[in-house]
Amino acid sequence: MAERTDIVVIGGGQAGLACSYWLSRAGIDHLVLDEQDRPGGAWHRTWPSLRLFSPSAYSSLPGRTMPPHPDVFPPVSHVLEYLADYEERYQVPVRRPVRVTDVSADVDGLSVHTDGGEVRARHVINATGTWRAPFVPMVEGAGRFRGRQIHSAHYEGPAAFAGQRVAVVGGGNSGVQITADLVGTAEQVHLCSTTRLRFLPDEVDGRYLFQRATARVQSSAEQEPELSGTIVAMPAVREARAKGALRLRAMPDRLDETGAVIGRAHVDLDAVIWATGFRPALRHLRSLRLRARDGIPEVKGNRSTKDPRVSFVGYGDWTGPASATLIGVGRTARALVDALEEELRP
Ligand code: FAD
Repeated sequence: MAERTDIVVIGGGQAGLACSYWLSRAGIDHLVLDEQDRPGGAWHRTWPSLRLFSPSAYSSLPGRTMPPHPDVFPPVSHVLEYLADYEERYQVPVRRPVRVTDVSADVDGLSVHTDGGEVRARHVINATGTWRAPFVPMVEGAGRFRGRQIHSAHYEGPAAFAGQRVAVVGGGNSGVQITADLVGTAEQVHLCSTTRLRFLPDEVDGRYLFQRATARVQSSAEQEPELSGTIVAMPAVREARAKGALRLRAMPDRLDETGAVIGRAHVDLDAVIWATGFRPALRHLRSLRLRARDGIPEVKGNRSTKDPRVSFVGYGDWTGPASATLIGVGRTARALVDALEEELRP
């Protein structure tokens, strides 16, 4: 006999914890299944020098403010401690390591198949993040390149690239931060992007991004002063920019055995780091055949248009403004749980 619960939350990162918080407050029976053996989700996969782009108080899940840290922008270790404490404090009903392999649907509910057995549920909330699904564009010759290629998801710091000539491909926050991290350790770093770097003003950090998202939710975005830019000028980024290390090159036209061809130039390389983004990690939902485009399911208010018993939280703006951030995901989770509570009420 399969175990039964009202809601299974798949994924125990920050998005899963925020959902669990509101589900518990609403008294809804639920389980959180997470394939990792410890709390923290994707924060375990970052590099040592990474700093939050907002101060602690602006990096909090619902219910508990992240404790202050001596550094204005706290390190990843501080986030990991916070998430572990959060899980314990709110007695999140999380099971780990449990990997969800498939979800199937019938008229009576959903079956969540895991490597530890089956759970029947009335709803499933997917909070599996993106870390498991790194995206690398097709670039001619990539298979011939004899150097090392990694995705930013597997970047663990500059030491592995000491004395090397490295191309970082991707002009978003990850690409820029990794480039800054490599300066001084790698021999050369080439930052490549199809678009120009769009820095936010130096005095603006993640707090602003959250305020913008709030304004969007309240439909008052037009009253907010418009700032262009998406890249947060963290102190290490500003330092690298001042040294002239963030001069941008175009995307490689192709790779060959020894490097990249960019326009008319050949750039010799030892390594390429693809900071080219992620897709939602949703392989476990393939049996449901949800309507999707470019790997992103079609949703209305976080719920699949094909099967509204299946919801999504935390992946990016398509699941709610700022829902991929610590401070933003609580709002999305609450709105979803409010809607589910209505339906689950006898
Ligand atoms: P995750 O943290 O990835 O958690 C998902 C969990 O689900 C994982 O534990 C995973 O193992 C598990 N899982 C996946 N598939 C399955 C399955 N089939 N079965 C069971 N479990 C499964 N955010 C901020 O708020 N502030 C910042 O300063 C900030 N800086 C960032 C800097 C960088 C470079 C990057 C890349 C991201 C940054 N973010 C920041 C965003 C933040 O790290 C992520 O958006 C966040 O970790 C996503 O949380 P999540 O809970 O959605 O997913």
